[in-house]
Amino acid sequence: MKLDLKIQPLNSWIKTGKEPLLIAGPCSAETEEQLVATAHLLAKTGRVTALRAGIWKPRTRPGEFEGIGSIGLKWLSRAKEETGLPTAVEVATAKHVEEALKAGVDILWVGARSTVNPFTVQEIADALKGVDVPVMVKNPVNPDLSLWIGALERINNAGITKLAAIHRGFSSHEKTAFRNEPMWDLAISLKTHAPELPIINDPSHICGNRELLGYIAQKAVDLDMQGLMIESHIDPSVAWTDAKQQVTPSALVEIIERLTLRKPEIKGNDLKDKLAELRNQIDKIDDFVFQKMAERMKIVEKIGNYKKENGITILQVNRWDEILNKRTAYARALNLSTEFAEKLLELIHSESIRKQTEIMNQGQEGQAQEKLTHA
Ligand code: PEP
Ligand code: MN
Repeated sequence: MKLDLKIQPLNSWIKTGKEPLLIAGPCSAETEEQLVATAHLLAKTGRVTALRAGIWKPRTRPGEFEGIGSIGLKWLSRAKEETGLPTAVEVATAKHVEEALKAGVDILWVGARSTVNPFTVQEIADALKGVDVPVMVKNPVNPDLSLWIGALERINNAGITKLAAIHRGFSSHEKTAFRNEPMWDLAISLKTHAPELPIINDPSHICGNRELLGYIAQKAVDLDMQGLMIESHIDPSVAWTDAKQQVTPSALVEIIERLTLRKPEIKGNDLKDKLAELRNQIDKIDDFVFQKMAERMKIVEKIGNYKKENGITILQVNRWDEILNKRTAYARALNLSTEFAEKLLELIHSESIRKQTEIMNQGQEGQAQEKLTHA
């Protein structure tokens, strides 16, 4: 399903010359001195396109630093005046939108804790009606693509066409090396629903630490995301928020310079031919895989019919285990990961079950399902 978003290209509202597009700045504006000094260092790197800073901070727990408030807008406009960097802040209410626009903030973003709430997003969207300002929408805290899409649609319906998504990872009960699981497939899925929508990756909030920033940034550019938002503070060790994940402007430059930028479009005929040949091979293999899947499903159907005709009700508990063990061992021998093999088998297995359920239910709706055995 393609989304019906009206989007202006990224380069109509932000300088996109130097790759990758980089929005950087502290998690929070803390003092005028901290913000302005950080902005100068960032501008000097020549790598940064826009300055970010949180003024109103949506904190998970009360009592934590909740942002410096409106005064920070003045500091931002001083930073912009002195460095020439356009500014970006998070807005979570209609009042934030009004104040930020009045203070001449160039780009607004909706935070992950706001995107989860359609009331909040609608309030922001209503405040944006009739305004021509770029807006970036972070993914919601929870891995729910519809909420993310819904928020983008609400902002777009308000007439905002300078629109981008920010991928900042998702909360997960599984504790991994990341603060927020990247769940790349959700960002890729958004891209397939709205290919013209720019997606900016936020390695800072995905990682929650400095060490993995480069790894995530590389993956984001490899997936052809249009830019990065990375938190940078003049002295991260004393940052009032997100201290563990912020980097100094010079560390930021190191991360950016280490990135390998690969081109989405191919130049040069030799390379084009080689790639076309390899893609041709892949197409053939994919066709073969589907053909074999269809053959497998035909056999599954036969088994289904056989079970039905013979009233077989024996649950072959060991069959699925056997399939899993044998195939994953084979996959490993072929240099395929166990995780991939298991996922693939589960997908095939659930389709087989669906097919057999259909057969079992023909003419005797409902009764047969629990009699189903594994094919
Ligand atoms: C932030 O950008 O500082 C922030 C609060 O991010 P998120 O909404 O992604 O948690
Ligand atoms: Mn932050």
